[in-house]
Amino acid sequence: MTEITSALEAKMGQIPAGPGNPADLILRGGSVITMDGRNSEAEAIAVRGNEVIFVGSSEDAMHLAGNNTQVIELNGRAVIPGINDSHLHGAWLGALWPDTIIGGAGFQSPAARLETGEDRRNAILRTGRLLASLGITSYTEPGLGPGEDNGPTGCFGSGVLDSYKELADAGHLTARVTVLSLFGELDGASDLESFERGLSGIRTYEGDRKWLRLAGVKIFADGIPPMHNAWTHHCYPDGSSGDLLVEGADTAAREDNLRRMILSAHAAGHQIGVHATGDRSIETFLDAVESTGLESARAARHYVIHGDLISGAALARLGSLGMGINIQPGIAVATGPMLAGVLSDQIAASAWPILSAMGGPAKLCLSSDAPVLSPDWRQGIAAAGEWVGTGHGMGNRELMTRLLSSYTSHAAWQDKAEAWKGTLEPGKAADLCVLEHNPLEVSPGDLPGVRVDLTVVDGRIVYDRESAAGEPDPTVAHF
Ligand SMILES: [Zn+2]
Repeated sequence: MTEITSALEAKMGQIPAGPGNPADLILRGGSVITMDGRNSEAEAIAVRGNEVIFVGSSEDAMHLAGNNTQVIELNGRAVIPGINDSHLHGAWLGALWPDTIIGGAGFQSPAARLETGEDRRNAILRTGRLLASLGITSYTEPGLGPGEDNGPTGCFGSGVLDSYKELADAGHLTARVTVLSLFGELDGASDLESFERGLSGIRTYEGDRKWLRLAGVKIFADGIPPMHNAWTHHCYPDGSSGDLLVEGADTAAREDNLRRMILSAHAAGHQIGVHATGDRSIETFLDAVESTGLESARAARHYVIHGDLISGAALARLGSLGMGINIQPGIAVATGPMLAGVLSDQIAASAWPILSAMGGPAKLCLSSDAPVLSPDWRQGIAAAGEWVGTGHGMGNRELMTRLLSSYTSHAAWQDKAEAWKGTLEPGKAADLCVLEHNPLEVSPGDLPGVRVDLTVVDGRIVYDRESAAGEPDPTVAHF
């Protein structure tokens, strides 16, 4: 990090200031929250092309102003790095919104069906407009591939990946997308043979990988505790302990098949995100990753998705293997009581360990799993605040900084992109959003009331609340 920073500073020094090489956009007179890991804040930020070129005082920023520079007066508002929702089903969200699976009225299964390429592109673009209005500039589409080519929704098949490629090539994406390939069914079974066949023919993308990146693979190890299909050392009320979703003649064969899937994908150089909610599934994942050797494991940055019943020991192992954990705080709040109902209050209270994961060393990412939940990250932070409660001993600023890291710099780490996005520093991508108030000065529970005013991706304004006034609000209605 230090090396990168000094390289960027050296680069900064070479940029001639003044009207000969002016900034395209200057935002000044507010709080620029850089999320650079050193709690750095500044008054102003300047952008040229698709890069941040300056972070510092409002006065110095104006030295970069030329005749065509757009200057935005923040008037005390805050600038943060663009939000990265590290687990969000973009095509599915676009097909369903404003419906979500977990909503005000409880749980529902709204129907969605994307038939044609046009349907798929429209759904992705619709999600893009919604995310831009929320300040979200990157997301991970966790699971697209042949296992869902004949799926009931059309939201997760290979055709969706083709639509992303078309939109990326045409320059129509308004958020950067990372994709995990899926060789089984979403939330369902997978078998070793199809997995290995899928892996050998895995799709690639030759265009601009800062917009669309095929990072690796998604594997569904198990289900969820309320359905009794999270694989656990605990016991459900019917005496069962769940099992793996991966196919096999018996539990030992299923475990071996999961391990072989992980090892094949790892050997082929893919990052692996495993949907694992049960402690036993997580342990199998960890054992497989550990067997690849420490250095190899750490370089891969594999991660647990959901991780409901992860133990403290497993969380520590995750850290030592250089892995991440991707948790949805809104799911913890919404389904915690159901988990308590099938296991116990005590088990539910230690599930989804957002607080203990926050301090590392496993990299904690928080995400929405939209359209399971709304993609509104402000609600995600509020839910995380509710889940961690009050006995954490941190001041509000420290808590909010850590929660925001999980949606910015940590998510960039998951994308293996921390060298060029996720923080606001010279040389980094100009992905940012403007909030009505400094988010470090409000409590998690009050964040949903803080407006998003402006979103910039790759130096381009993709949402401006004022100019969007009069148009349908993508966050509340069909659009
Ligand atoms: Zn998901």
